[in-house]
Amino acid sequence: MYPPHYGKNPLFPNKMDFRVVLRNHVSGMGVMTFKAFAKGDLICVLAGDIITDIRQHSLQIEPGVHLYDIHFSGYFLHSCDPNVYLDMKNLRVYATRDINVNDYLMMDYAQTEDVLFKQFPCSCGAENCRGWITGRKELPYADAVLPSGFRLPDNQFEECQSI
Ligand SMILES: [Zn+2]
Repeated sequence: MYPPHYGKNPLFPNKMDFRVVLRNHVSGMGVMTFKAFAKGDLICVLAGDIITDIRQHSLQIEPGVHLYDIHFSGYFLHSCDPNVYLDMKNLRVYATRDINVNDYLMMDYAQTEDVLFKQFPCSCGAENCRGWITGRKELPYADAVLPSGFRLPDNQFEECQSI
């Protein structure tokens, strides 16, 4: 799925196994898998451009360093009960539970992002849905309409409390 200038790696996602599809007009684009995975499986290795700003489809590698992958991982949908975990240091994606054919790959944006390009209301349907999605180091927008039971991501850092 990656253009040739990212090099060749058999662990890169390929068109036989995944497709970026329009899920619906609320969620937008998502990545569907045509291959099943078991919990703990390495799903693939990521590539992209390394950038210093936050964009709609970027993923944070470390503060000030982001992966801009508009071919694959930039389209992962959010779920508060994700089925993938991203190791951004090694650009690897793992299954957090069994994943079936035709499932969407879903990550928790607060797993990688300190600050989101844009916060948004979530209707992922998970039992532990936070309802409003922020980065792990930011508080909700002042004008956010927070659902009852809203809570910040689990790994909310302490420095947020001083904002
Ligand atoms: Zn949710």
